[in-house]
Amino acid sequence: MKEVEFPIFKTKMENDRRFDFADPEERQKYFSFKAGEEIEKIKSFLEKGAFIMYLLGKKSAGKGTYSKMLSEIISPDKIDHFSIGDMIRELDKDLADEEKKKELFAFLRDNYRGWHSLEEIMDILKNRSTSTLLPTDLILTLVKREIAKRGRKVIFIDGFPRDLDQISYSLFFRDLIGYRDDADFFALIDVPEQVIDERIKWRRICPDCNTSRNLKLLPTSKIEYDKDTKEFHLLCDNPSCKGERMVGKEGDEKGIEPIKERMEMEEKLIKQAFNLYGIPKILLRNSIPVAEAEKYVSEYELTPEYHYHYNEDTGEVEVTETPWTIKDERGVESYSLMAPPVVVSFIKQLADLLQE
Ligand SMILES: [Zn+2]
Repeated sequence: MKEVEFPIFKTKMENDRRFDFADPEERQKYFSFKAGEEIEKIKSFLEKGAFIMYLLGKKSAGKGTYSKMLSEIISPDKIDHFSIGDMIRELDKDLADEEKKKELFAFLRDNYRGWHSLEEIMDILKNRSTSTLLPTDLILTLVKREIAKRGRKVIFIDGFPRDLDQISYSLFFRDLIGYRDDADFFALIDVPEQVIDERIKWRRICPDCNTSRNLKLLPTSKIEYDKDTKEFHLLCDNPSCKGERMVGKEGDEKGIEPIKERMEMEEKLIKQAFNLYGIPKILLRNSIPVAEAEKYVSEYELTPEYHYHYNEDTGEVEVTETPWTIKDERGVESYSLMAPPVVVSFIKQLADLLQE
């Protein structure tokens, strides 16, 4: 098998200026500036066509963030994103509702092919635990159901294939479900483990509205200093929220430690998918070696690290930014890109594929 190699993507432009990614309007301008032509190409393709995209990347690699941002820019009503994890959790609601349970039962009766009787499947669904995987034949049927619900849209699927066995299924999935003649692609996402580790360790969540931020890498506009514990806290700044103090989830302080095994599997999956022929691939790269950065990206496209200082005199928290560097898997000193430049490379590669 070939070694996985994600090329560095150039988003730097000659007449570049700084865009403020925290501001939705500025973000829109940034995308028009960097990929306006490609966005129009994709939009005009979507007037008649659609496609399926399998997102492959490690946990917390940004699969949801990238696909949601892309759908926001192109067309939120024509692009849908769903994760296998959410789909399986949703099943609990279906099982709790008599009508929906009947509908699920009928769908499985008409569509499921595999090793289990309907009664067994219902048992598996009811008694499943988070640690055991559902059988692949059942997952395939459930994904088919999910796609049928959505009609003819672009669909980003997150979490399938989930093991090496399912990779082979994904090759023929389009044919298996008899799902139109639309194209299907893989989007492979490469993020250094240290980036994921720090995203998890510093993650803070609003207990009220569930907004997720990062104390070190993506703060809110309001920082609070606790004089007793001498700690800094993010306050939620979602306009529709009352501004709670954001908190870390239990276990997050361990970073990637508890998901090491899962990540190894995901790395193998990416390697397998990378080596497939016949299915076009989009390669998304999160990091860029410090030594190469200037050639390829503008400074505002890099993720900074935030520092806080409590000013005793004014009683205010002062925030400063410095460039954040990490070591990638090969030990190369690197920057981590903000989401928008990665999405620009996503848009450009996608526009190319749709044109072929
Ligand atoms: Zn909130």
